[in-house]
Amino acid sequence: MSVRPSEVTTAHPETDRGDLQGLLDAQRRAFRRQPMPSRKDRIDRLDRLHRALVAHKEKLIKAIDADFGGRSRLETEFAEILMPIQNIRYLKRHLRRWMKPERRHVGWLMAPASARIYYNPLGVVGIVSPWNVPLFLAVQPLSYALAAGNRVLLKLSEITPHASAAIRLMLEEAFAADEVAVVTGGVETARQFVSLPFDHLLFTGSTDVGREVMRAAAENLTPVTLELGGKSPTIIGPDADLELAAERICFGKSMNAGQLCLAPDYVYCPKNQVDRFAAALRRHCARMYPYLDGNPDHTCIINDRHKIRLDALLSDAMSKGARVEVINPGNELLDDRRMPLTLVFEVNDEMEIMRQEIFGPLLPVLAYEDLERVISDINRRPRPLALYIFDRDRKTVKRVLEQTQSGGACVNDTIFHIGIHDMPFGGIGNSGMGAYHGREGFLTFSHAKSVFSRPWLNSARLVYPPRRRIVDWLLKLLLR
Ligand code: NAD
Repeated sequence: MSVRPSEVTTAHPETDRGDLQGLLDAQRRAFRRQPMPSRKDRIDRLDRLHRALVAHKEKLIKAIDADFGGRSRLETEFAEILMPIQNIRYLKRHLRRWMKPERRHVGWLMAPASARIYYNPLGVVGIVSPWNVPLFLAVQPLSYALAAGNRVLLKLSEITPHASAAIRLMLEEAFAADEVAVVTGGVETARQFVSLPFDHLLFTGSTDVGREVMRAAAENLTPVTLELGGKSPTIIGPDADLELAAERICFGKSMNAGQLCLAPDYVYCPKNQVDRFAAALRRHCARMYPYLDGNPDHTCIINDRHKIRLDALLSDAMSKGARVEVINPGNELLDDRRMPLTLVFEVNDEMEIMRQEIFGPLLPVLAYEDLERVISDINRRPRPLALYIFDRDRKTVKRVLEQTQSGGACVNDTIFHIGIHDMPFGGIGNSGMGAYHGREGFLTFSHAKSVFSRPWLNSARLVYPPRRRIVDWLLKLLLR
């Protein structure tokens, strides 16, 4: 992404390094007093988060709408409120089993003994969230960190000041500052924040900033989970259902006006199907968004700078020979931050639109004749957060899934894999490191402590010096 938060004016005063350290110290002291919260305590925290989301729902929806200058209410209710609540229910259902120490095999050589893994909380976790789905991307990692028994310091984005203020108010009402504390402020605060000696740091944001975050965390040997962005490719296979693909791509690319880390970034379409695909997209788009101006189902671009960035991507592509088709079914003259889905044909790797993460409603459509070339083109680029393949032929799907690398994937759909609570979510390479969601989310925020325990009977005495004959015999037997 070319626009960095440092270029955007922030309404938030910066938070002092001393204040941040104070918050961390208070949480660390509280953690030492309760290093292994019971399941009941963890569920109480999750319940408080659940109740807070319900109680603050309207304020949160209004705040997010104000930041975007128009955010689909349906999208906010579904992605920002319902998803985290469903996830809390999922966590509560599984917590007992996940918290239970796990028996491992001892092996006859070490017997009699027991080997168990204890899942202990890490301590104080730092979470940094972005602006594009501001509530979900703050409370989703928060709920996993709490389920695993940690204390949490949360740094919210300065680009959504209304949402950040509303989330802060909600969490300050629901939690003591030594359980969960919220930090707002601009890039300087963010830099100070990630340089704190957390026990774990989860960062969601751009790849460039992710590099800086990892560098800062390395100073403290703080482990990181990086949830980053990138260009997620979509392949329409030779035997795809074109109507179905067009409808689902239209939805995946239009949700949040394409400002999703998971949005299909560009589409490969068989050369002889491009016109049919474009026509189907136009039809589905016109049905979902018959008009844009004031349409309550349509989301705006977050701010002028991002709109300017997207316009610049289009101008650059056009100046280098791309053909552009704007899908504007109502033929409206649109306000600056309403941006229709725009198809971009005849693109090449020299164009910025094929080099940067788009993060908006521009959709390059690349015609292809040979699927092998598509796979090798994708593999030449940095590894994406997601890959979408549409095809009815299982062999084609298998081939694409096996021969490409991506954080996650959908078959005959886009973006929805993030909604499956029971699957880990994360990137690979430039799109991220580590994962959360599902049991993997609990593990990300836990320390798997291996515990060996020996009863009174001690077979190890055999190998205590002085060396005995039976040991020679045993070694001879085992080292054959
Ligand atoms: P960003 O990287 O600019 O900012 C993210 C957060 O980092 C903000 O809270 C910001 O205050 C903070 N930050 C900024 N500069 C920092 C620095 N130098 N050190 C430490 N922290 C700093 O990202 P953004 O523009 O808010 O979000 C968009 C990006 O996030 C896109 O690339 C998108 O793909 C990615 N994203 C990824 C996921 C995912 O789950 N993988 C989800 C949403 C968004």
